[in-house]
Amino acid sequence: MVDGKTKIYGIIGNPVSHSLSPAMHNAAFAALAENRIYLPFPVEDVQAALAGLKALHICGVSVTIPHKETVIPSLDRIDPVALKIGAVNTIDIRTEEGARILCGSNTDWLGANRALESQIGLSQARVVLLGAGGSARAIGFGLREAGAGLVLCSRSEPKGRALAAELGCPWFPLSGLASLEGDVLVNATSVGMSPRLDASPVPAAILPAYQVVMDIVYAPLQTTLLREAEQAGCRTINGLEMLLYQGVAQFELWTGLSAPVEVMRRALLKCTGGDLS
Ligand code: NDP
Repeated sequence: MVDGKTKIYGIIGNPVSHSLSPAMHNAAFAALAENRIYLPFPVEDVQAALAGLKALHICGVSVTIPHKETVIPSLDRIDPVALKIGAVNTIDIRTEEGARILCGSNTDWLGANRALESQIGLSQARVVLLGAGGSARAIGFGLREAGAGLVLCSRSEPKGRALAAELGCPWFPLSGLASLEGDVLVNATSVGMSPRLDASPVPAAILPAYQVVMDIVYAPLQTTLLREAEQAGCRTINGLEMLLYQGVAQFELWTGLSAPVEVMRRALLKCTGGDLS
């Protein structure tokens, strides 16, 4: 029950009505009987919103499109990996010496790494990462943090080469995938997303070369890429896992508690219409 002591969290973005984070975080708070609540905040004026969060003693927020970059100049602190990525998806709002301060970090890369580490150690892994958009950027810097070997492949050459240069890794066009070797393939493009359910970013013939295939697309959960990877004998990770573990990292940062991971996974599965079988 909400009362005068309830700690308030939320998500800022535009739109936020589709977000799965309220269901995931509120399920976790309820499971641990924590007097905390997580709300959607549609935000257009990000500077005004950040001042409001401080003034209203909101304890923390997730940040989503289009504000992941625009919040940065208004933060009091930013974690070094988020700074390299150039995007913040989490703000922790603390009181220090009587002042309210906004501390930004990025848990998208933590979510991707933790999802991958459930299947393979990253420090020795050779990872082929598909895409050069916002998610590929966060995942790429995260894989570098973990010490993984990295090759970036994308459709757009200038964008792909620029990101690969920042990541200090080679770039290949998607058409050059067949010539690459790796242990892990990560799809960070939007190919395979509903309604183009039959699309895959890679030909099925290249999949047997990989031990692990992760698709970050989560609508649908079982993409064509993952179905073909399973048929090729690869271990697969669906897009719900990155979403889950970026939320787990947020929960643990905000509360200092161990997150109820299974409760959070079930909440996400319920929202996405998935099942646990
Ligand atoms: P962006 O728009 O920033 O990037 C999309 C990327 O997909 C670009 O590199 C783009 O290539 C590439 N792409 C799009 N269409 C094609 C195509 N036909 N062939 C080859 N490449 C293509 O999106 P995000 O990085 O934010 O998101 C990507 C996907 O990840 C989305 O489906 C999103 O829902 C999902 N996602 C999942 C998360 C999770 O936690 N599981 C978190 C965030 C996103 P180009 O650069 O050439 O335009």
